[in-house]
Amino acid sequence: MRPLEECAHGWGRTLAIAAVLMLPSSLPAQTVNAAAPRPIDVEPYPYPADLLDQAADLRDRALNDSNPFAVVASLSTEVGPRLAGSAGDRAAVAWALSYLQDLKLDRIAAQGVQVPRWERGATQIRILTPSPQTLAAVAFGGSIGTAESGLEAPVLRVPDLETLRSLSSDRVAGHVVFIDKRIERSPDAADYSAAVAGRIHGPSVAASLGAVGLVLRSLGTDSNRLAHTGKVIYQDGVPRIPAAALSAPDADMLARQLDGENAVILQLRLTARRLGSARSANVIGEIQGRTRPEEIVLLGAHLDAWDLGTGALDNGTGVAVVIETARLIASMPERPARTVRIVLFADEEMGLSGARAYAARSAEGGETHMVGMEADGGSGRIWRLDGVVPEPAAPLLAGIAPLLEPLEIPLGMVRTSGGGADLAFLQKLGMPEITPRQDLSFYLDYHHSANDTLDKVDPEALRQVVAAYAAITWMVANGEPEFGRLPDTDATSADEPGTGAD
Ligand code: ZN
Ligand code: ZN
Repeated sequence: MRPLEECAHGWGRTLAIAAVLMLPSSLPAQTVNAAAPRPIDVEPYPYPADLLDQAADLRDRALNDSNPFAVVASLSTEVGPRLAGSAGDRAAVAWALSYLQDLKLDRIAAQGVQVPRWERGATQIRILTPSPQTLAAVAFGGSIGTAESGLEAPVLRVPDLETLRSLSSDRVAGHVVFIDKRIERSPDAADYSAAVAGRIHGPSVAASLGAVGLVLRSLGTDSNRLAHTGKVIYQDGVPRIPAAALSAPDADMLARQLDGENAVILQLRLTARRLGSARSANVIGEIQGRTRPEEIVLLGAHLDAWDLGTGALDNGTGVAVVIETARLIASMPERPARTVRIVLFADEEMGLSGARAYAARSAEGGETHMVGMEADGGSGRIWRLDGVVPEPAAPLLAGIAPLLEPLEIPLGMVRTSGGGADLAFLQKLGMPEITPRQDLSFYLDYHHSANDTLDKVDPEALRQVVAAYAAITWMVANGEPEFGRLPDTDATSADEPGTGAD
């Protein structure tokens, strides 16, 4: 095992390369959202029986012996909130480096990453008229604050971002815009994927029409009096306005008052602020390939988490899945043919800084990532196996299917784009991605809220996820055929609810 290393080389070049890679829009990481999906309906590739037996053994050991819940418990208890650039973030990196020491890996490294720093501060939102009420709200990540005295403005409600875009500045100027879009629960969090642009881009769209603030019905499926945060991206050249989420019952309250005769005046006081940048790191662990070490099978999960909860579901579970998968593979009698590398990415939530830096360094170094998988979908069971792979690789996925039958995971769809947020930059460089779909039906009850805590994690379901990741990883790390490269398409994908939601 090599000593820990801090890689801090070439930041100027790194940024230059990163600039040409497209920033993926922020969706739940598990929300695979791409064009022209096709069912996997091909002759399976005939993997050797002994390889399938090894993978089945690994799968069964994961089901019977692994304990991903313990990993989530450790991270969410000993570290907890870990927003990029915070003290919790530094503690998380130290936790991860320490945890990986016990895994019998061949290499552990920390890749230094510069991340944004942002402080949430206090969020106070009140209806002043017609019926004074205080609303439960949280600032969106990256939001600016208000003046200390706050701002007061009439509210303009719109059903979604598209409607807002269609309005003239006469209608919008001087208002606080309220995007009032409900999302319904579903295994694939489709509503979240459709609505998240309102959070990310709503503030700049509203500001470009003269709005002075933005509030949004939380992108959650619960009815708790807790709001769900998430990042906003301010567009260059457009005034920055404060932006916050309302809890669902408080969005209801605001909507009821707006249904009345009188204008509704809202008061916003936010002390959120940007604090420059800070040092963080991608934490990397590696099992070196026996015969094809230069071909990397990548397992990614973001290590950072919002400050409101303890980051158990988002993304302690994903961290646990890749760590447990690595532990199981490292304990096999011999190393896999290809290198299996896990990357715990820095700063997925506030801007994908870790993913961008990793992909840029990988491109610089000429590394070959044969295939990747991301874990960022809470602890729901996997209900389908999809892939973002070239068409000729579909038989490779079909060949793995028998291993997944006992886990009740059918084959799903092949796409040519979409997938996890942290892998989007690598995908843009051609890396195919296997995208197990976790059940997100209950994920958005807790996602990005103060309710993202350990008690929401389902230990049994999480073992099923590890079993699938381990079996798939063993097959692709040892199977003779390669997956090929994706065509150079625009990477437009995820932030998490983990292939999923972030
Ligand atoms: Zn996430
Ligand atoms: Zn997230």
